[in-house]
Amino acid sequence: MKKEDMEKQAAQFVAESRRNVVSLEEAIAPELAGARIFDPPVWGYGDAKDPMFQELKKKEAVGPQFLLPEEWLPKANSVMSFFLPFTEEVRSSNRTPGPEPSALWLHARIEGQRFVMAFCKEIQKILGIEGIESVIPAADGRFCSVTKPDPKRVGNWQDASYTSNWSERHVAFVCGLGTFGLSKGIITEKGMAGRLGSLIVTETFEARKRKYTDLYEYCTRCGACIRRCPAGAISMEGGKRHSPCDTFLESTKKTYAPRYGCGKCQTKVPCESRIPKRNY
Ligand code: SF4
Ligand code: SF4
Repeated sequence: MKKEDMEKQAAQFVAESRRNVVSLEEAIAPELAGARIFDPPVWGYGDAKDPMFQELKKKEAVGPQFLLPEEWLPKANSVMSFFLPFTEEVRSSNRTPGPEPSALWLHARIEGQRFVMAFCKEIQKILGIEGIESVIPAADGRFCSVTKPDPKRVGNWQDASYTSNWSERHVAFVCGLGTFGLSKGIITEKGMAGRLGSLIVTETFEARKRKYTDLYEYCTRCGACIRRCPAGAISMEGGKRHSPCDTFLESTKKTYAPRYGCGKCQTKVPCESRIPKRNY
């Protein structure tokens, strides 16, 4: 299958799916009904045998619990990674000062993630029609993620905290989508405000050439995300600490359950919707 054909059908799904729109039944406020969550995706592609996936098993990357593409799908040939950028409507709603996430951002975080999974399933269906097998790690029964450290963990998970056996961000980096920012999100050509996802497939799609060599190449270290973070979770020296971010996100559940969210470090920052320009 030509990747252009797949990408065209995927973009059509994003444009036409009602699940990419806040419904009247679910809207936190009636005026939010009809708001579109995502713009069309940007795609990255990786060779399933790229040695960089092996590198992700290192402790300083994802960790030994990371599963290689062929561990998810023995006949894997390629990895497809996508970034779905939030619309201007979603992003601008969350540019406000102060710690409160906008209502539309909460929809984008929760109903948006539900759409990401629906999108993955749609891609799987499109590929399946062409006889291409695929695995969606995030929707697979073997997917596992952990938050706080736990001394009772054993084996590959012994020292694990705030990690998983398939990291969308690291996979996006390998697949040429972009580099990390100080706030630990991935800065793509459409910025950082949005959601990532991926599939491992038996088809051979040409890998996207990485236009960078450094993990943080697209981040200018401008510090805007530090100033935006209501939890003090980001610093110039240490980047983002997951624990205070997680605690803050948990606290938003008290006010906004069944939703939660923040995303202040992804909005009103130079990397919100593009690769930021350097002044030198
Ligand atoms: S706001 Fe600035 S420092 Fe933070 S991730 Fe974006 S470019 Fe990097
Ligand atoms: S999501 Fe919110 S709390 Fe977490 S790092 Fe970003 S700004 Fe800070």
